[in-house]
Amino acid sequence: MDATQKWAYERRIADLVKVLEENKFGTAVAKDKEDAKRIVMDMIPEGSTIAVGGSVTLNETGILDEIRSDKYKFIDRYNTPNFEAMLEKYREGYHADVFVSSTNAITMTGELVNIDCTGNRTSQIVFGPKKVIIVAGANKICDTLDEGLKRAKSIAPMNARRITHKTPCATDDNIQCSNCHSAARVCNVTSIVTGCHYFPGRITIVLVPEPLGY
Ligand code: SF4
Repeated sequence: MDATQKWAYERRIADLVKVLEENKFGTAVAKDKEDAKRIVMDMIPEGSTIAVGGSVTLNETGILDEIRSDKYKFIDRYNTPNFEAMLEKYREGYHADVFVSSTNAITMTGELVNIDCTGNRTSQIVFGPKKVIIVAGANKICDTLDEGLKRAKSIAPMNARRITHKTPCATDDNIQCSNCHSAARVCNVTSIVTGCHYFPGRITIVLVPEPLGY
């Protein structure tokens, strides 16, 4: 990517790390998406049970492919015969050794912001799995909590379309939120994690100075 853009991302991430550490998150800074994959996989002992949140970033970095290796016990939410079986996988995830996900937004005031359909991702970031690893490209960084909430909401239509939910915002000619009451609504739960003071370092955030996901 453009060297000046990368430099700007690196400066922003350096400032963000200080704030996140004050909020008792673990942090790691990757050079690029390949390095992010190495950092994440080095953090997960072989034999670990792993659950994941739905994430474009985990695909783009190749982390999801690594998690599928025989070295780990992947609680595979993507390989289920029906919706009930998928929900069972979500429930199993609460007992995972590690939960790996991205985030919809991360703020310069040190918060993680996420919007979920079922709430499995938001809730497992909050409590359950012993360790949580969040991988975030610099495009996810927002100045304030208000901007983080706006960002999370602004990408909900794309997420609805990605997971083929038939919401009004994910049709061929509309990407506007109508605050729908669709059964397929993807905006049912909003979570804001403001710190890890009670479980310092339970959540580690791997920051990458390039755009990842949306
Ligand atoms: S509330 Fe409904 S219309 Fe609005 S972004 Fe969420 S799913 Fe789309």
